[in-house]
Amino acid sequence: MLNLQSLIIVASLAGVLLISGCATLNYGEPYDMSNISLKTERSRFAKVDRVNIYKQQEGTLIRGEVRRNFYGRGTIPGHVDIELTDSTGKSVFKEKTYSRHTSLRSHYADFSIKIPFPVAKGSHLRIVHHDGGHREDCVKNDQKG
Ligand SMILES: [Zn+2]
Repeated sequence: MLNLQSLIIVASLAGVLLISGCATLNYGEPYDMSNISLKTERSRFAKVDRVNIYKQQEGTLIRGEVRRNFYGRGTIPGHVDIELTDSTGKSVFKEKTYSRHTSLRSHYADFSIKIPFPVAKGSHLRIVHHDGGHREDCVKNDQKG
C-alpha cells in the first residue's frame, strides 16, 4: 500500500515524466513538404503560419499556428478550414478545426488535425483561416468570411 510520502514521490515523478515527455514530444516523421503544394490564406484577423505535416502510423498529422495580423491579445475569432485534394484536383479530405491558445497572452494559437490516411505525392493542401462561423461551402468561397 502506498503511504502519503510515496504518493508524493510517485506524483512528482509523474510530473517530471510529463514535463520531459512534452519537451521531447514526437508527432511522427516530418513529411517531405516538396511532395505537396501547400497554400495558406489569411482572414482579416489572422493568418495561418508554421504548418508542419507528420507521417504517423494511423495517417497524417497537420499542425500549425494561427497568428494575428495585428498585435492583440485574447482569443482569435473564427476557425481553420483544411482541404486536401489529390494530384487530379479531387477533394479527398475536408475538415474544420479550431485553434487553441496555449496562453491567452500570446498572439498566436495552435491547431492540429488528423487525416486518417497518408498524404499522396502531388497532393494540394489548402489551409484557410476564417473570421466567422463555418458554412458548409466556406472552404470553396475564396476571400469571403
Ligand atoms: Zn469554414
